[in-house]
Amino acid sequence: MEFELSPERLAFQREVAAFLAAELPPGRFYEESRQSPAQQVELDRFLKRLAERRWLALSWPVEYGGAGRDLIDHAIFNEQMGYYRAPNEALVPVTIIGPAILQFGTEAQKREHLPRITRGEGVYWQLFTEPNAGSDLAALETRALRDGDDFLVNGQKIFVGDGREPDYFYLAARTDPTAPKHRGISIFLVPARLPGITVTKLDPVAGWAKNQVFFDDVRVPASALMGQLNQGWSHMRETLAVERSGIATNGEARRMVEDLIAYCHELTRDGQPLVSHEWAQNLLADLLIEVEAWRWLCWRVVHLQATGAPIVAEASVVAIHRKAFFPLLQNAIYRLVGSYALLQRTAVGALGEGECEFWQREALHTHSAGTPEIQRNIVAVRGLGLPR
Ligand SMILES: Cc1cc2nc3c(=O)[nH]c(=O)nc-3n(C[C@H](O)[C@H](O)[C@H](O)COP(=O)(O)OP(=O)(O)OC[C@H]3O[C@@H](n4cnc5c(N)ncnc54)[C@H](O)[C@@H]3O)c2cc1C
Repeated sequence: MEFELSPERLAFQREVAAFLAAELPPGRFYEESRQSPAQQVELDRFLKRLAERRWLALSWPVEYGGAGRDLIDHAIFNEQMGYYRAPNEALVPVTIIGPAILQFGTEAQKREHLPRITRGEGVYWQLFTEPNAGSDLAALETRALRDGDDFLVNGQKIFVGDGREPDYFYLAARTDPTAPKHRGISIFLVPARLPGITVTKLDPVAGWAKNQVFFDDVRVPASALMGQLNQGWSHMRETLAVERSGIATNGEARRMVEDLIAYCHELTRDGQPLVSHEWAQNLLADLLIEVEAWRWLCWRVVHLQATGAPIVAEASVVAIHRKAFFPLLQNAIYRLVGSYALLQRTAVGALGEGECEFWQREALHTHSAGTPEIQRNIVAVRGLGLPR
């Protein structure tokens, strides 16, 4: 087992890092809920520059606009994107929805959507959660019932999407209401502007921009079906495993730990540099241990993906670690920098252009792709083989 990257891969890592350092502003580019139209233009330009290098979908086949590189290079790229605080939402079509299309999509769907995504175009939202189906996702009630050449969709989704106007929905809906709940679900790739679709914005959750989507007798052509009819649950599980094990967030958190260490060199407490206090050293050491452990868990999943091994519990192990790390980081930031941790980026004296304050809020965000409790259930049942 190799723990070191080869000289070629290290050179690629440096190339990506140099590009991102030059292309991205030093602070957080923007937060979804606070994104201005000018930042949207900036983001589009940034995506185009990544696309020109064929970096957006590094590991996808060349015929669909990818660069045909392997998953290890792709993970190196994603890790650097997180480290340089590239906007998360820009990655959703490439990291979550594109891989699903590659795996389950029809040839027509691949040819239509993948080249568009690799060009950095198109806004895709994942529509799984409903008011009565969050943790118990298989209980989802949105229906897509066959009606001639179409499916007729009715229902509601919540906590989905981002601050941009969507072009497509990656939708989970019940296609066989008589089947046991895990067996009657299918996945669709639905144009977002069909008659009968209404999108309403939710108040931002911890800086995120989220929405509700309502379907009222929406006619979706049968060609929008992705994967096999009524087999959507297994497709959703694979999609969620990819989301849970994302390495970009680890890069982002690792950068924050490094920045925090740098602030502690500058700040003083009781007349002494903060870094010279044992309690501060212990806090920083704990953060480093946890973020490194999490990083290697991410790389283990990348290794499994690269070898084509199935991933279920391993992705949940990563997710548990990630979700446990956020409150640790939030608490350490607060204890180390005090009330400065509450100053937003535009305030005088805000540390790291508001990055400390950002992590105070981000610590609340442990729900997406399944709460910590649900991840533990998965590890217990699927990882340890314990009874449901
Ligand atoms: C920032 C953010 C982004 C999101 N993005 C998306 C998105 O893009 N697409 C999408 O479809 N969804 C998205 N979601 C929704 C997210 O996946 C759900 O919020 C999550 O699955 C939890 O569902 P819920 O909120 O309905 O909570 P509930 O399921 O109601 O859970 C409430 C509490 O009960 C606990 N609980 C529930 N069942 C059990 C159990 N069996 N055992 C132990 N504890 C349990 C949970 O852990 C939780 O603490 C997002 C959410 C957030 C906050």
